[in-house]
Amino acid sequence: MKQKPLALVLGAGVSGLALSIRLAIKGYRVEVWEKNSFAGGKLSEYQLGPYRFDAGPSLFTLPTLVEELYQLAGKSTEMFAYERLDPICRYFWGDGTGFDAPADPDQFARAASNTFGVPEASIKQQLLRSKEIYDTTAPVFLFRSMHKADTFLSKDFLRGVARFPQLQVFKSMHQAHASRLNNPKLVQLFDRYATYNGSSPYKAPATLQAIPSLEYFQGAWLPKGGMISITRGLESLAKSLGVQFSFEQTVTQIHHRKGVIQKVCSQKIEIEPNLTVSAIDVAALYPLLSPKETLPKRIKEADRSTSALVFNWGVEGAFPELELHNIFFSDDYQKEFEQLETQSGAPDDPTIYIYISSKKVEGDAPKGHENWFTMINLPGDKPLSREAQNQARKSILQKLERILNRPIESKIRAEWILNPKGIANRTGSPDGALYGSASNQRMAAFNRHPNFSRRFKNLYFTGGSVHPGGGIPLCLNSAAIAANEIPDA
Ligand SMILES: Cc1cc2nc3c(=O)[nH]c(=O)nc-3n(C[C@H](O)[C@H](O)[C@H](O)COP(=O)(O)OP(=O)(O)OC[C@H]3O[C@@H](n4cnc5c(N)ncnc54)[C@H](O)[C@@H]3O)c2cc1C
Repeated sequence: MKQKPLALVLGAGVSGLALSIRLAIKGYRVEVWEKNSFAGGKLSEYQLGPYRFDAGPSLFTLPTLVEELYQLAGKSTEMFAYERLDPICRYFWGDGTGFDAPADPDQFARAASNTFGVPEASIKQQLLRSKEIYDTTAPVFLFRSMHKADTFLSKDFLRGVARFPQLQVFKSMHQAHASRLNNPKLVQLFDRYATYNGSSPYKAPATLQAIPSLEYFQGAWLPKGGMISITRGLESLAKSLGVQFSFEQTVTQIHHRKGVIQKVCSQKIEIEPNLTVSAIDVAALYPLLSPKETLPKRIKEADRSTSALVFNWGVEGAFPELELHNIFFSDDYQKEFEQLETQSGAPDDPTIYIYISSKKVEGDAPKGHENWFTMINLPGDKPLSREAQNQARKSILQKLERILNRPIESKIRAEWILNPKGIANRTGSPDGALYGSASNQRMAAFNRHPNFSRRFKNLYFTGGSVHPGGGIPLCLNSAAIAANEIPDA
């Protein structure tokens, strides 16, 4: 019997897992090479004594994109369970203002109007604007290749062009929010969504106003068992389709001849696949091809997404004043983003995000304890000294103790720190970038690496550093777009 063609997927992050499933369904023999001893990449977990931590993403939208993979494989979507969050997030400000963001857009507008004194109609209008931009842009920018002529001839694209003025591409996201919402705290709340792809609201185009619509019109969710359930579910789905995983297999070199990838080598073995898919950061892939193959200039020059400094703390005590997702805003958001761009170390007053999965996932912390994933944004391209890291820890704890008005440092029973270098080592993403490249430039959506190679006819790309960008939903879309480029076996 003729052997099926072999597809080699490099990297077992969420995009590599999703593409391996799609390729198995297309009829390929699929092997996945992963440098770690575990799958998931950024979407992985860490066990610290009795505390379990989701090690990367914690905000989950568009669960139907995961379900789609089960459906394509002919499996029940009930294998992947998740619950809707309401409230979505609890917000804190230094002056004592607090706000729980309801999941329903009408309730959000009402509650936000009461808290921030902005007319309910203006807030509803902002949410509807967000939805309109999403509905206009997503079919073109998020679900299709941006590197094929048929995208630009599609009805969706032409509809988008007709609505171009409404997209406000010449304004920044912050300018668009500030023009409608006459309250700095509410503007800050909406501006925060720029960080969902590692960007600055003061630089990112106003089209990024689309991001909150995902949470308020389609929902924010938590998988049963925590975020790691996405990885576990996709890994076992892939295995059930015959995908072979090879862990602790670091790709060291990719040999090619006359525009064809011929051989892929790890530190241990070599293989001659019919096609190769890179699901690793594109900036780390090019050097494996040969010194002559350099990353396209526009990609090399794009702003990298921010990285992060994460203190994973096992904390003794129950904190009913905290939700699953919590944000402690800085007093001067613009200064925080300026400092992220210009100085090394943490901003003087960083916005703090705390995700506590043990609020919902039994067993993630012992009884009477909680697991705090405490994160601030940080530039990945500047050095972080031990002193700067200690200083950031100190100022985070001081701020939390002041706002929550109770001791925290003395309640920390276990600590695992993940800094930009740690993220880079754990995932192979240069600078520990969380989302590949940022959307700080107006044309960022057009400048990401395509899902195929123009130089090598059997090389494809997926993941957060290529089109359509970072974050779990976009990575899953990226795998779908790449799979569309690949012929059936
Ligand atoms: C701290 C943090 C918070 C985040 N928060 C969110 C969030 O709340 N919501 C959200 O949607 N997204 C979030 N993200 C972003 C999201 O995690 C990523 O966009 C997504 O998981 C990237 O998946 P990927 O498959 O592209 O790459 P990765 O997850 O980076 O996977 C790449 C894989 O390739 C492997 N690899 C690298 N080099 C090699 C090599 N040479 N040989 C073999 N294997 C190799 C790596 O070990 C890794 O397993 C966050 C990320 C981080 C780090």
